[in-house]
Amino acid sequence: MMTRTENKQIKFHMITIENLVPENHFLRRLNRLVDFSFIYEETQDYYCKKNGRPSIDPVVLIKYLLIGFLYGIASERRIEQEIQVNMAYRWFLGLDLDERVPDHSTISQNRRRRFRGENVIRRLFEQVLEQCMEMGLVKEELILTDSTHVKANASFKRNIQILAEHETTDYMERLDIYEARERERLETCGAIKPQRNGRLKEEKSQVQRIISPTDPDAGMMKRPGKPVGMHYLSHQSVDAAYGIVVDVAVTPGNVNDSEPYLERIEYMCSHLGLKMKAVSADSAYSASLICQRLNEMGIRLYTPKATGGATYKVEFKRENFKYQKEKDYFICPAGKKLTLRSLEREHYNICRIYRADRKDCQMCPMLSQCVSASQRSRTIRVNIFEEAVKIQRERDGSPLHRQILKERQIWCEGSFATQKAHHNLSGLFRRGIEAAEEHCLLSAMALNLKRMVKCLG
Ligand code: SF4
Repeated sequence: MMTRTENKQIKFHMITIENLVPENHFLRRLNRLVDFSFIYEETQDYYCKKNGRPSIDPVVLIKYLLIGFLYGIASERRIEQEIQVNMAYRWFLGLDLDERVPDHSTISQNRRRRFRGENVIRRLFEQVLEQCMEMGLVKEELILTDSTHVKANASFKRNIQILAEHETTDYMERLDIYEARERERLETCGAIKPQRNGRLKEEKSQVQRIISPTDPDAGMMKRPGKPVGMHYLSHQSVDAAYGIVVDVAVTPGNVNDSEPYLERIEYMCSHLGLKMKAVSADSAYSASLICQRLNEMGIRLYTPKATGGATYKVEFKRENFKYQKEKDYFICPAGKKLTLRSLEREHYNICRIYRADRKDCQMCPMLSQCVSASQRSRTIRVNIFEEAVKIQRERDGSPLHRQILKERQIWCEGSFATQKAHHNLSGLFRRGIEAAEEHCLLSAMALNLKRMVKCLG
């Protein structure tokens, strides 16, 4: 017999919103676990204590945004519509059944104006992280890092080419410091001659850049296997114990992965107080300066095994030359010396240059096996961070190395896949790097809350 559902929805009920939300609903479990009152303390300075119209409760404001990131609702207008009809969302925000949902434009204006340039979202992210740490979800033993592209809200077709001032990066400034230190050491002991006019900067003062007038902060990304266009990069570090995101930093899409890495590692150690023993990242992070700095910090780096190695145009390789450590020179297969001549910068490396005497090489019967046609004598370049790289690569191929790389794949790539599919990380609505960073932090915060509820709720 067929049943027809008619005229059932006109009855009056005595009901509260509390009864309508199931006991085991995710938002209930989340509310039981996380004390959101920290939002009042973090935002109290942005509200006048005496004057002005009553504001939207800052906890409601942040929870409103969180609903969007927890449930993958990208548009703030749609979040408002969803809260209007979803009892669990209303309950989470502390709104009653008949209470008006804050207007989406009010939420946007609050976020854009009141909290602008104040790092509020970062502080909230770190508060949630602190709660995760207190609950024992962050073990600090192994931190895994990777970056992903996030599409900027800028049209690819409207890009223009400009001449921009060259800006030095944190990574290059660090290299400058190491280079100055090494040069001073070598000059003091008389190993190399003092530089006459200082190092000629290889960087140009102006560089050509492709920018989008709609979002000039975004960077043009052109990487194999990635979409071409204006993007940001979200550099995210995850603790390997439960996959809790411990740090997020955003750069334009054309920045090399290794550039912000050391700065973020130091931030995690000094600001968040993480006592990490090991870190893992993909091969883009295995730059020699990174190996050196991590060695100094006592942190072990695990990256995929290096493939290839140095390529030679001639038969004699570096291994054919014997290094005399006490005298600091190389002996070539013909028994001649290659002495230290200078210190040179090679983009991401600093090298000591050893060179044989031109006369020795020109008269040598092995010249064609040893010196390429474009050179007059043999040169050996030794990276000043070579020892640090060797130490960091000692465990390559070991079972522990393989296991850590697998964990990195699971947690880093898995987290990005989840965030892109369910937590709004696939693209941005707002413009500018500050908005991009807030967006990525909120996405990571949503993931942390979800993982916290899964582990403890
Ligand atoms: S070419 Fe020069 S460096 Fe090479 S083996 Fe002969 S003397 Fe030594």
